Amino acid sequence: MDRRLFLGSAVSALALPGCATNVRTASRTGCLPPVNVAADRVIRTAAGLRPYRAAGFVVRAEALGDKRLVHNYGHGGAGITLSWGTSKLATLLGLQGHQGPVAVIGAGVMGLTAARLVQEAGFAVTLYAKALPPDTTSNIAGGQWSPFGHYRDSQVTPEWRAQFAAALDYSWRRFQIMVGDDYGIRWLPTYTEGGGDSGPSPLDAYHPGARVLEAAEHPFAIDRLVRFDTMYVETGRFLRQLTRDVQIAGGNILVRAFATPADLAALPERLVFNCTGLGSRDLFGDLALEPVRGQLAVLLPQPEVRYAFTGEAGYMFPRADGIVLGGTFERGIWDTTPEPDAIARILASHRRLFGAFRCTA
Ligand SMILES: Cc1cc2nc3c(=O)[nH]c(=O)nc-3n(C[C@H](O)[C@H](O)[C@H](O)COP(=O)(O)OP(=O)(O)OC[C@H]3O[C@@H](n4cnc5c(N)ncnc54)[C@H](O)[C@@H]3O)c2cc1C
Repeated sequence: MDRRLFLGSAVSALALPGCATNVRTASRTGCLPPVNVAADRVIRTAAGLRPYRAAGFVVRAEALGDKRLVHNYGHGGAGITLSWGTSKLATLLGLQGHQGPVAVIGAGVMGLTAARLVQEAGFAVTLYAKALPPDTTSNIAGGQWSPFGHYRDSQVTPEWRAQFAAALDYSWRRFQIMVGDDYGIRWLPTYTEGGGDSGPSPLDAYHPGARVLEAAEHPFAIDRLVRFDTMYVETGRFLRQLTRDVQIAGGNILVRAFATPADLAALPERLVFNCTGLGSRDLFGDLALEPVRGQLAVLLPQPEVRYAFTGEAGYMFPRADGIVLGGTFERGIWDTTPEPDAIARILASHRRLFGAFRCTA
């Protein structure tokens, strides 16, 4: 199921409004190289837990004893996309008037981007985390730059929407200046089944070049297809590079788990950023936070595949480290063991999708 179609159909409870793309039609033909989907081409499988909050991510400052604590967690299926943006908001909240070293808790995409922004602002940082890359949820993410599946429309406030808009804007610009092999970020055309028929949306700016394709313009055996461009992040490479950046700038990275806010209060730093993702449920008792599991099958890389797909079959993001096939959005499931049946379904739906190509490049 499409990262965007998820929203309107089977899991409408997680709907992300404004995902519609304001499209125009245009004509351009093009056949594409199909993905070679076969069980013996699977190089790994994975299951990760999106840190989902129906009321949206939390970026908020509060007092913790004599410290300032700034939260930055709960980004659902949009954490890579929003990372630079909400970390920027968090640092704007936390650093104002601060002096001295800073603690960041968590080494996923939120902790690493927050740590970099703290360093860029001239502060020394120590990053504490129970687990480091590659053992974070962030490492499992498919890496599409698209704000998908991270809140429920009826549960967010106007103030939160303003934070969301500001975070998107900053993230969009920050990722663009990092495009390239060093961070594993690239632009790709994206073919999305359905979509684009709900009128203008504030998110249209993030779907440049969006248009409905004529049947002759693409090889998919699909009635309505929208094409737009967005960025894709090879998450393993990106997080590895960010970790190096933190260290090169003099940051300390320590493996440490925190059980209670009192453990944080005992840290020497007077400013603490909480970037613990789903860990905030136990650490801060935020029961609004719940896991939404996503399972992936990764196929051998196919460098000739330079487009992405989202739709009823699931999603396909081509990366240098493999062709990522996904398509599950399982609410409330904590188990991170990939299920053979779910993986088989992901493979079967994509085999049908690419097997039905009307022409190949
Ligand atoms: C299958 C899948 C596909 C996805 N695809 C995309 C996508 O295409 N695009 C997109 O934008 N997003 C995507 N996401 C969402 C994205 O992965 C998450 O939103 C993001 O990784 C959350 O980042 P984080 O840093 O908050 O959490 P994490 O990556 O989980 O990092 C949390 C850190 O906090 C540490 N921690 C937790 N608790 C404690 C504690 N008590 N003490 C000390 N340390 C602690 C952890 O060890 C870890 O270092 C996907 C997610 C999944 C599962």
